[in-house]
Amino acid sequence: MMPFSYARASDVQQAVSLMAAQPRARFIAGGTNLIDLMKLGIERPSHLIDISRLPLAMIEDSAEGGLRIGAQVRNSDLAADRRVRERYPLLSQALLAGASGQIRNKASTAGNLLQRTRCPYFYDPGMACNKREPGSGCSALQGHNRMHAILGASESCIAVHPSDMAVAMVALEARVETLLPDGKRRSLALDELYRLPGTTPELETRLAHGEMIEAITLPPPPPGRQLYRKVRDRASYAFALVAVALVLEVRAGQVRTVRVALGGVAPKPWRATTTEQVLLGQPPAQALYEQAADAALAGARGQGGNDFKIPLAKQTLYQMLAQTAQEQA
Ligand code: SF4
Repeated sequence: MMPFSYARASDVQQAVSLMAAQPRARFIAGGTNLIDLMKLGIERPSHLIDISRLPLAMIEDSAEGGLRIGAQVRNSDLAADRRVRERYPLLSQALLAGASGQIRNKASTAGNLLQRTRCPYFYDPGMACNKREPGSGCSALQGHNRMHAILGASESCIAVHPSDMAVAMVALEARVETLLPDGKRRSLALDELYRLPGTTPELETRLAHGEMIEAITLPPPPPGRQLYRKVRDRASYAFALVAVALVLEVRAGQVRTVRVALGGVAPKPWRATTTEQVLLGQPPAQALYEQAADAALAGARGQGGNDFKIPLAKQTLYQMLAQTAQEQA
């Protein structure tokens, strides 16, 4: 591990100012991903700014009927919050499907959003990786790519985003509130926070250097059923092969509301808007679910080891649509 200095921020403005003053500084909160990366020499910050004690650990009701989730709310606290369990069960299910109990007790909400990919080549400094070392190549293209992306990838990088929570939040149309070093604040849709890899896989988000996430806001809960399903190699402490976040409202014989986001298949939580368009306003039917599941994977491309994800994602989505529509029949 490289030597680094450390400071604990006493308020949010000080945190972003400290960060802006040092190009190689990093924020640290739970540290559940950053510490691993530092031990491996993949992250080499010159300075750590501890933001874990900032007063950003509140979950508050918003005036619109949604929730405002502080960036430092622990994943376990968010999953257990009564309002989340009752009004956003999709989010609670996704959180509890992620990582382990110990990690959820430590990991922050913002840190969960900003965690790095778990591509094994990214974590191996002896292997070529464009994300870690731009221009060095992508070992996964011809290597073991069973866990890798089938949507949104590029010739430069086929890594997936590992978060479950973010997939649920994209389906719930969450927004991210940030503070910039000049004191300005902005809000952006979570779906817009992430970049696709293109030719610059080292750039993963649209945050500027020094910009800090203060909170995540959820609009009022959408009508209908919510369901998160994660398909993985073992029942706990495993990343998704395929995950689906679904909101579905069937009323008066028609699909009135639908949101679909996929996890484990793309470099970002993948909102399946074409699927939503196929379903919206239609009477529920088996053939419609098949058509909708096909639409979600239109354009999907495997790399050999991960070809199985295409039928797996289709089948998972199809079954969830059939189940949630049946529950409302
Ligand atoms: Fe690196 Fe991305 Fe290729 Fe993995 S998939 S080796 S993270 S460039």
